[in-house]
Amino acid sequence: SRRRAIDVDALAEAVRSGERAALARAITLVESTRADHRDLAQRLLLRLTPDAHSSETATVSNRVGITGVPGVGKSTFIDALGMDLIGKGHRVAVLAVDPSSTRTGGSILGDKTRMARLSVERNAYIRPSPTAGTLGGVAKATRETIVLLEAAGYDVILVETVGVGQSEVTVANMVDVFCFLTLARTGDQLQGIKKGVLELADLVAVNKADGKHEMEAKSAARELAGALRLIHPHDALWRPPVLTMSGLEGLGLDKFWDTVLEHRRVLTDAGEFDEKRRRQQIDWTWTMVHDQLLRRLADNPRVKAVRAQVEKQVREGTLTAALAAEELLRAFDTH
Ligand code: GDP
Repeated sequence: SRRRAIDVDALAEAVRSGERAALARAITLVESTRADHRDLAQRLLLRLTPDAHSSETATVSNRVGITGVPGVGKSTFIDALGMDLIGKGHRVAVLAVDPSSTRTGGSILGDKTRMARLSVERNAYIRPSPTAGTLGGVAKATRETIVLLEAAGYDVILVETVGVGQSEVTVANMVDVFCFLTLARTGDQLQGIKKGVLELADLVAVNKADGKHEMEAKSAARELAGALRLIHPHDALWRPPVLTMSGLEGLGLDKFWDTVLEHRRVLTDAGEFDEKRRRQQIDWTWTMVHDQLLRRLADNPRVKAVRAQVEKQVREGTLTAALAAEELLRAFDTH
């Protein structure tokens, strides 16, 4: 392998000054699983993370999660919204969390060809999902990439995901506002929407509300609003609104963005905005501790050595599950 020394200070400076090539190198570094890269990546992130006591504290970025099944119109919408925002002077980054893309070989979220206009914009940066296996790994790389993008001056971070497994929860936990895109569905079709995603959503948008589908979309939105009212109490700080829009025709995009800003304003006024970000950092810390403990447990040679025997005894009923768990943990604990 090519081993060229990486000058972390120089790289941090180049990222800050907005050099695209440097940003790409930095992102590759945080995506890398090589031990020496991981170490360098953390040093880089420390340099680029705004210090809570410095003047950089003022958070200017908006981190927006966008989920919806394939075909709902995510990339069309992101392309249109992104262009609007660039027109208003923003710099827009698009990231994807799609741990399934490696397994299925299917369409990769964040694939540049899916956002034809945005992908050639100087003020846009599109990065497809890292293909490094587990959701935990993808989430870590994505969170760290957000830090890099913000340091490079991107003030709108759009994180796209499809509802595979836990990916929605993962993305909801790394953004300020989580948006669920859906198509016009009523009655029984509403049941098909995962309840979990409605609980996570801060904003719901019925997309493709254009042409002959417009009325349908409006009545679907009313039904969805009813379903959401059951989830969120009357006195909740924020009750997720249901919008209708068309990414293709560019309808409802202003309203969408106004709602994102309104959500931010409501949380900020209640002192919850910065608190939410801080809480996400703490949660993330513990998620990594859990993930690494599990990995160490699975890789531990002493655990491996007793594992088959312990499982056999549980199967045969000569050992209870609780005693088996104790034995495995004892093997792990022994130094
Ligand atoms: P994604 O898989 O969620 O990213 O969906 P795409 O953006 O690739 O869109 C899937 C299909 O729906 C494409 O054929 C789009 O042209 C179409 N489409 C996307 N947005 C709209 C919309 O707002 N209205 C209509 N009528 N079609 C749309």
